[in-house]
Amino acid sequence: MKRIAIIGGGISGLSAAFYLQKARAAGADLEYTLFESGQRLGGSMYSDHVEGCLVEAGPDSFLTEKPWALSLCKELGIADQLIGSNDAQRKTYIVVNGRLVVMPDGLMFMVPTQLVATALSPLFSWSTKLRMARELLHPPRPMQSDETVAQLVERHFGAEVVDRLADPLLSGVYGGDAAKLSARAVLPRFVEMEEKYGSLSRAMLAAHKKMMATRKHPPAPLFTSLQDGMQQMVDAIAARLDPESIRRRTHILRVYPEDSSWRVAVEMNGEERFDAVLIATPANVAGTLLDGVDRGLARNLLDITYSSSITVTLGYYKQQLAGLPPGFGFLVPRSEGTHMLACTFVHNKFPHRAPEDKGILRCFLGGARDEAVLGLSDDEILETVHRELRDILKLDARPIFSRVYRWRGAMAQYEPGHIARVQRIEKHVAGIPGLALAGNAYHGIGVPDCIRSGMEAANALAQAPVASLSPQSR
Ligand SMILES: Cc1cc2nc3c(=O)[nH]c(=O)nc-3n(C[C@H](O)[C@H](O)[C@H](O)COP(=O)(O)OP(=O)(O)OC[C@H]3O[C@@H](n4cnc5c(N)ncnc54)[C@H](O)[C@@H]3O)c2cc1C
Repeated sequence: MKRIAIIGGGISGLSAAFYLQKARAAGADLEYTLFESGQRLGGSMYSDHVEGCLVEAGPDSFLTEKPWALSLCKELGIADQLIGSNDAQRKTYIVVNGRLVVMPDGLMFMVPTQLVATALSPLFSWSTKLRMARELLHPPRPMQSDETVAQLVERHFGAEVVDRLADPLLSGVYGGDAAKLSARAVLPRFVEMEEKYGSLSRAMLAAHKKMMATRKHPPAPLFTSLQDGMQQMVDAIAARLDPESIRRRTHILRVYPEDSSWRVAVEMNGEERFDAVLIATPANVAGTLLDGVDRGLARNLLDITYSSSITVTLGYYKQQLAGLPPGFGFLVPRSEGTHMLACTFVHNKFPHRAPEDKGILRCFLGGARDEAVLGLSDDEILETVHRELRDILKLDARPIFSRVYRWRGAMAQYEPGHIARVQRIEKHVAGIPGLALAGNAYHGIGVPDCIRSGMEAANALAQAPVASLSPQSR
């Protein structure tokens, strides 16, 4: 019988456990134990219920086009619980000089594809608009170095587009800074497009044309979530696992191979033996756990940096929000000098989240350039959010409820050199029998990528013969 330890009970570790359980049900001779430091499973995936509203503390949805979360939900038997974002209301604003300016039609991520809409938009200055028109003439160019997103976007569209679009969009997804994130790791499609077409606008137009020509069904909603929140996925996985295999409030201090097995050192509880170890914690924790096993591997893992963020959810009576514009919410460029990075009008994006008479605003703070905000008390954070919402939305009403969630070091930052670093990590791991890694630090930060990472790590360990896992087979 192959015994596998999974360390970390976020969505990556839970997915790994689910796929190991599945392999076992299909006849694989294995058992697993999932160790989670906290009382709760799910890591940053957590949904709360307050005053009849569903409050997402961490992720509120996932990108529909990435298939792994959808297939997991199907395998869990909760596909009938999936809900799509209300894309008919999909309109996003950018705060410019304290006022909301709607993003023009045809902006695909940050690439303009409708020249008239872009030309008429007050979001950009005339010099940026001219630059956008000239971008259509960019010749194809192979990427010479691993540049940052800010460098790539600035080369194409200028600094204003970095400030007003690239940076706020990446703050929303990565809690990151466009000047520090690797274009190749974060926007690989842009890099390929530049290599093939030169102009990103022409490339997007070509991709759009091709999609329209081959599309048979109406487009799927951009984001998918679950009727009862993202927590539903966590609960559905937990319900499928053997309860005896889950050890909450169990903090792992280190892992190391000895004789023919892996030792897992449990805080205040001695050591346990396994044939294989699957580490699904943040990379910096994995680096610490593995420090005694392979210094080079540990150093590469510890070099992956993380940012922290705060989500603040505020519930209101609908009539208090009567002055809000339609849409999914707004993003705030760094140059506006606020703590708030973004605000989602949740009741518009996912109307099922609030009863008819209530509305929910969810605000993001923190990110790579504002770690200091995590030092504020909840009251100070709520005061800050209230003040900034008053300035931006002219919303002075006090909410009927508020919740503050802090996520320290939760978002891996894919800095230039990330792809090469992950290749080095994988090379080290390939040389260590019985070790696998999963999580948001390697091949994608979103929920579907985390699920894929857990599934792939689990399948690799489930399929390997026991003898090949032994640290002695090195
Ligand atoms: C505020 C926020 C909003 C987000 N929004 C979205 C979104 O809308 N859509 C989307 O797709 N993605 C979103 N993400 C990203 C996505 O949610 C995360 O990347 C993903 O949930 C990470 O899962 P994970 O299992 O890899 O890590 P985590 O959730 O960090 O889980 C790791 C687990 O390991 C445990 N652990 C750590 N050390 C040890 C140890 N020594 N021993 C035992 N256990 C340990 C921790 O307690 C934790 O439970 C968001 C993230 C955040 C923080």
